[in-house]
Amino acid sequence: MREQEVSVIGLGPMGRAMARASLGKGYRVTVWNRTAGKADELVAAGADRAATVHDALAASQLVVLSLTDNDAVYTVLEPATEALPGRVLVNLGSDTPESARRAARWASGHGARYLTGGVQASPPDIGQPGFSTFYSGPKEAFDAHREALEVLTGTDYRGEDPGLAAVYYQVGMDLFWTTVLGWLHALALADAHGVPAEEVLPSASSMLAGMPDFLAFYTRRIDAGEYPGDLEKLAMGVASVDHVLETSRGAGVDTSLPSAVLEVFRRGMAAGRADDSATSLVEVLKKPAAA
Ligand code: NDP
Repeated sequence: MREQEVSVIGLGPMGRAMARASLGKGYRVTVWNRTAGKADELVAAGADRAATVHDALAASQLVVLSLTDNDAVYTVLEPATEALPGRVLVNLGSDTPESARRAARWASGHGARYLTGGVQASPPDIGQPGFSTFYSGPKEAFDAHREALEVLTGTDYRGEDPGLAAVYYQVGMDLFWTTVLGWLHALALADAHGVPAEEVLPSASSMLAGMPDFLAFYTRRIDAGEYPGDLEKLAMGVASVDHVLETSRGAGVDTSLPSAVLEVFRRGMAAGRADDSATSLVEVLKKPAAA
């Protein structure tokens, strides 16, 4: 049987972890990176160093791209487009859904098939069980390389539209970064009162551990467009957020985050939703804020 091959272009922490995982599973791995020295450790572990991007593309049908964004993808691939016909590009870097669709059209125009990926793992998680990556794009290309992709993480194929994996990924990142920033603001507030992060950990963890039940309960209502104020009302939420803002102001910490939250709550009030659930704010958030 022919040895299985993969080329990895882009050797930041993520690309290096992916190349390592594929080497560990016996794949023939070809690597290329703008800063060539980042390939040294992989070459020592058995990877082939491609002298050029063209060589990296020529070495394997499956080409994993792990670059900062799609601008970097074009910068790297444009000089080597004659090597693209017949390749399957799997772009695991972050960018917008529209950018993913544009990149898929660009790749297709050069004779390559293109899968978008959204990795829900950090570099040390690559090759470990329990992690997953969203994929979208041509199903036959995904199926043909599923086994090699599952060396990296589990796979979650979302559909043919190359933008879809980026949609799921950016939705996740939206949730992740706003949650992390909320936590960091809470820690700044605690710190202003002499309470270290360690002391907040149990209550913060317990609050977040309750979130799956909270989400499951309200998701059904949100999809049904129903926001009864039977358990909590937006008017109560406004008062609560206002207390967070005032506590923050009193502590002398940054108030931009609770101020932004309060502003959204007030728009909900102005839209006549005082007696609805605070989850009715999803309707406010579906539209851009008036300038
Ligand atoms: P880095 O930004 O550290 O590395 C990106 C790679 O892109 C490097 O190899 C870098 O080359 C290359 N690069 C950037 N700009 C250019 C350019 N103009 N021309 C040529 N090469 C360029 O990212 P990571 O490895 O951390 O992540 C890669 C992708 O994976 C990103 O899109 C990231 O959002 C995504 N991701 C990362 C996660 C993480 O935890 N790290 C988690 C999930 C997704 P050079 O070495 O020469 O600078």
